[in-house]
Amino acid sequence: MIKESEKKYSKTLDEKTRDIKSKILKYLTKKWNVELKEKENTINLYCKDKNTNEIIFKIVMELRFSWTTSEFPYATVTIPYRKKNLLQEDIPIFYIILNKYGTELLITTKEEILNSETITKDTVYTTNEKFYELPLNCFHKGFENLIEYIEIKLELNLDSEEETFDKFLYRCDNCEVISKIKYKKGLRCPICDIVIFN
Ligand SMILES: [Zn+2]
Repeated sequence: MIKESEKKYSKTLDEKTRDIKSKILKYLTKKWNVELKEKENTINLYCKDKNTNEIIFKIVMELRFSWTTSEFPYATVTIPYRKKNLLQEDIPIFYIILNKYGTELLITTKEEILNSETITKDTVYTTNEKFYELPLNCFHKGFENLIEYIEIKLELNLDSEEETFDKFLYRCDNCEVISKIKYKKGLRCPICDIVIFN
């Protein structure tokens, strides 16, 4: 078998995920307006306030086909390091791993992932790939209390922010990444460096 440095995108995989995506969308839209964006083989859900339609947080979603039972089969959870770029936006970000059938899930925050240990391992598709490795207790499990989990984390996040009153969320026209910025003439996008305000 030819191994490649990064897993290639597969259309059939995408087709299989359609039902599971609509299930989680249905669940979240009870509470938020949800905009789905698929980017770099990953599902990004932008969750917005129902009244103002302002983006509140993002969910990066992944289906794990090796997880087929109710309980997660390993003591630790590995997340590909290449997903780091999806966790860079300056908004609260949650990461959800769903099992093969979309019946169980694990959710954690970007902070838990970015602060975790990294390892390298071989996978079916890759050699020496770098991963974040998180203990299972860094995750909340299951659909039950999922919305409550998100709301508690969002509240904690608000408490830890300072002088955010004159900042706002801006989606860059060039790289499409959202940053929290303050208006300033000549300001450049913190991600792709293009000039935002002339
Ligand atoms: Zn940009």
